[in-house]
Amino acid sequence: MLKLRGHHLFCLPGYRGMGYSKEYVENMTAWHQTLRNHPETWVQIVNGPDKLCEKYPNSGEYHCENENIYARDAAILKKMNLKVGDILTWKDIEDHIQKHINPSDILHVCETCSWRSYGVCQEGIQEILDGKGLREVK
Ligand code: SF4
Repeated sequence: MLKLRGHHLFCLPGYRGMGYSKEYVENMTAWHQTLRNHPETWVQIVNGPDKLCEKYPNSGEYHCENENIYARDAAILKKMNLKVGDILTWKDIEDHIQKHINPSDILHVCETCSWRSYGVCQEGIQEILDGKGLREVK
């Protein structure tokens, strides 16, 4: 089972192989590929640092415990009608995105994220809405 915090439910659809370090990217790509190839994978929603945060580089500021990141997690879970402790498959998470989320939500809930301006996260949400699932990362 993969433990994920709220905002990573949005980051994964927009993931294109960019990240904070080589180790971070390798880990994220491996989980992204698992969810893409096996959407029946179980996911548990957790509060705070998760399986992806584990590989956040320990040089510089550790942003995974920042108050505004927790606030983003909570805002995204609320929008998706999910809560900490929920256990569901990645496919169920895609269903929640389809029911409750618009690509423009990224503009508001992710306002302070440095990756937002690339536009890939909005594209990723749109692809989930279109039933395409997670895109292939090469
Ligand atoms: S804008 Fe940042 S926090 Fe929001 S989905 Fe993209 S990478 Fe994740």
